[in-house]
Amino acid sequence: MNLSDTKSAANFQLDHFIANNLKDYEKERNFDFGPQNRKNVSCLSHYISHRVLVEYDIINKILSTTKTGYSEKFIQEILWRIYWRGWLETHQDVWKEFLTEAKTIPDNPNYMKAVKGETEIEFFNEWIRDLKNENYLHNHSRMWFASIWIFTLKLPWQLGAAFFMKHLFDGDTASNTLSWRWVAGLQTKGKNYVARKSNIEKFSNIQVKDITLNEVAEPLIEAKTYPFKMPIQTRNTYNKYGTLLIFDNELNISNPKVNFNNYKQIFLLILNNDKRKLILSKKVLEFKQTLQLDLHKQLKNSKIIQPYFLENFCKSSDGIDVLYPFIGENFDYINMLKTNFSTEFNIIYNENDIYCWKFANKGYFNFKKNNKLIMNQISKGEHQ
Ligand SMILES: Cc1cc2nc3c(=O)[nH]c(=O)nc-3n(C[C@H](O)[C@H](O)[C@H](O)COP(=O)(O)OP(=O)(O)OC[C@H]3O[C@@H](n4cnc5c(N)ncnc54)[C@H](O)[C@@H]3O)c2cc1C
Repeated sequence: MNLSDTKSAANFQLDHFIANNLKDYEKERNFDFGPQNRKNVSCLSHYISHRVLVEYDIINKILSTTKTGYSEKFIQEILWRIYWRGWLETHQDVWKEFLTEAKTIPDNPNYMKAVKGETEIEFFNEWIRDLKNENYLHNHSRMWFASIWIFTLKLPWQLGAAFFMKHLFDGDTASNTLSWRWVAGLQTKGKNYVARKSNIEKFSNIQVKDITLNEVAEPLIEAKTYPFKMPIQTRNTYNKYGTLLIFDNELNISNPKVNFNNYKQIFLLILNNDKRKLILSKKVLEFKQTLQLDLHKQLKNSKIIQPYFLENFCKSSDGIDVLYPFIGENFDYINMLKTNFSTEFNIIYNENDIYCWKFANKGYFNFKKNNKLIMNQISKGEHQ
């Protein structure tokens, strides 16, 4: 199997970051110097969220090539991502609730002004343009953006989260939904993130000038509580059926327990907007297609398919193996197929995921307390 362009590019970018910028990451990561200067962060999120690069492989690579102490902050950020994923997987109703609300809350003239980049806040309008043109925002700007959206512009967080999903190349159901909830004060109950003029001016080139931000905002509150519940399946059955299905957010063949060559056929599927509740921009869908094509080139037995093709396949098939596509639209689609067809969907989880998610039962600092166990598991190198 050849390593084709995207995967090589992703690894090249990771190696370059490790060699040149990782050592200053902790000191500089919070600064947003603008789209022309992103050396202080890795800009790997679009590869990581589609799992062209798998979190565990990144951590192992860093640990085996750098001095300890040097890379701790970066690894912590990757662990944040694993934590958010684990939290959503173990509190799945949060996703259902968010989707329903995002679809039912009506937009209004202020929302339309915001998403067109026509607010009174020029630097906010600039972020809107960056989202649409670069399909990326720096982490600190995402925090300021979400805070201003919710507390200064007084727009519903759900519509902001849906807008991010539409335009970000790294749009991720867990990191995005839960970060928006965190800014709103719903994730860490009673603690919201307030964007302050002084903080924005310190960490970016932006001059806030005479714009008044709501710096005394209270956290949002919600009546609903979400209990922790681990996914029921604890054991995988590998290579059960002759066909494997891979969605756009698990675009790798690094699970050593799956024999990818043994499949008669491997279907690669990206849901088009007809099958989604949250509409993605044309650029985001095209970006996903580029990544998918790369995997297609690596796998001789793969076939890029459309949803109607899979639905026809289900009419006459006993079962299909599926690399678990996480809580989100892809898994919702699988669940819809399950109600309409008798085909079995044999879900294959990444074992490191299942191991880590069980620690996402409380806040991040509790998850961090179990770092030693988590790092031990990761260092076994299951996914090298
Ligand atoms: C409101 C809001 C929405 C967000 N939506 C997304 C999203 O849809 N998809 C997404 O991947 N990230 C999201 N993030 C997290 C974070 O902003 C991005 O992962 C990060 O900015 C990506 O840039 P980078 O790759 O240069 O990050 P780096 O700083 O280089 O970090 C390396 C990697 O660590 C992970 N990471 C870093 N910071 C975070 C974080 N705060 N939470 C979770 N993982 C993190 C990412 O995988 C990232 O690629 C969101 C944050 C906020 C505040």
